[in-house]
Amino acid sequence: MPKLSLSTKIFLGIILGFFVGFIFGDSILFLDPIGQLFIKLLKMIIVPLIIASVIMGVAEIGDVRKLGRLGGKTVLYYLSTTGLAVVIGIIMVNVMQPGVGVNLTLEKSPEAAPPSLIDTLMGIVPANPFEAVVNMDMLPIIFFSILIGVVLTTIGKKAKPLVSFFDSLNAVMMKLTHWIMELAPYGVFALMAVIVAETGGDVIIDLAKYMATVLIGLLIHGFVILPLILKIIGKGNPFQFAKDMSSALATAFSTSSSSATLPVTMESIEKNAGVDNTVSSFVLTLGATINMDGTALYEAVAAIFIAQVYGIDLTFAQQLLIIVTATLAAIGAAGIPSAGLITMIIVLNQVNLPLEGIGLITAVDRILDMVRTTVNVWGDSVGARTIAATENAVNRVESAGAGKS
Ligand code: ASP
Repeated sequence: MPKLSLSTKIFLGIILGFFVGFIFGDSILFLDPIGQLFIKLLKMIIVPLIIASVIMGVAEIGDVRKLGRLGGKTVLYYLSTTGLAVVIGIIMVNVMQPGVGVNLTLEKSPEAAPPSLIDTLMGIVPANPFEAVVNMDMLPIIFFSILIGVVLTTIGKKAKPLVSFFDSLNAVMMKLTHWIMELAPYGVFALMAVIVAETGGDVIIDLAKYMATVLIGLLIHGFVILPLILKIIGKGNPFQFAKDMSSALATAFSTSSSSATLPVTMESIEKNAGVDNTVSSFVLTLGATINMDGTALYEAVAAIFIAQVYGIDLTFAQQLLIIVTATLAAIGAAGIPSAGLITMIIVLNQVNLPLEGIGLITAVDRILDMVRTTVNVWGDSVGARTIAATENAVNRVESAGAGKS
């Protein structure tokens, strides 16, 4: 039997899981712990990996001005691509009008309230870095790691022991990621089977047009807009790059978590796509937390869908407000399953739409979450690869599509 590559095995896991869940239904729910175990293993390495990788990335950049430029570029890139995703969503939902003629059957809306913008901003600075580590709060961890990395570049010889420590920790975490990924085909198989078994067919039919609107928007962003950016600005070959990132994309799809996928995204972009750690560490870790193109697009579509269902006409100004708030809500969403559903409260509040509307779309959220998380991770990856190209930090010239530079 020919030896299959890991990413092929992962895709087989997804497909097989789909059929097993579909055919056997509830009776395969006992597989759930296998999928959860896989997610736990990935989560286990996130914090040490982020710390080691960001500190090393920043220390290797070595120049605060260069870091500032990279930071500025990254934020600008992320804001513009997220904004673009929202605009695609708004166009799609206005063209397809999925909410017109839908009957209201409300389920309970989520109770958790999202943090306010000022809380999120204040939360970036940890009062206690160890508390941030224990709670897995990504932004404060990233902030503290950046500071340590910067300081390491300013203390000369004294930096040496810590730099070699984090360098070694980084290598250990990468290796561990590699090992955990060997289990990915089984993990994603179990995750898929359980998701399919738990999602009833009826709700999908009721909300088919809404789902189609979100999915078509996501496909346009993922298959057209992001590849164009990669090709034009990043001078990369989108097909090759998608292949390089395929394990990360499949993991995002099956776990619905950008954060849990982060170790795989980092490993793939450095080992397969040749992006230097100086760029990938910073751009990807930040991206997993704040850059969510898929979530932003989905929030815009969902908010306007809810307005359509309730027969509320949104003015042009209100739709503009949705562009801003959906972008912010996506930035505020954590990289975990259903986070986007919760931060949607921000969008609905801003344009005075009924919060109960969230109950309407909860039933199909998991399926959309899988696809939007894949687009989120794809957006982070394209961002890191594109920014790396502008920083001359891509170590491998792709066989096709890349110009000689
Ligand atoms: N699950 C998404 C992610 O981790 C966030 C969301 O849209 O719910 O990227």
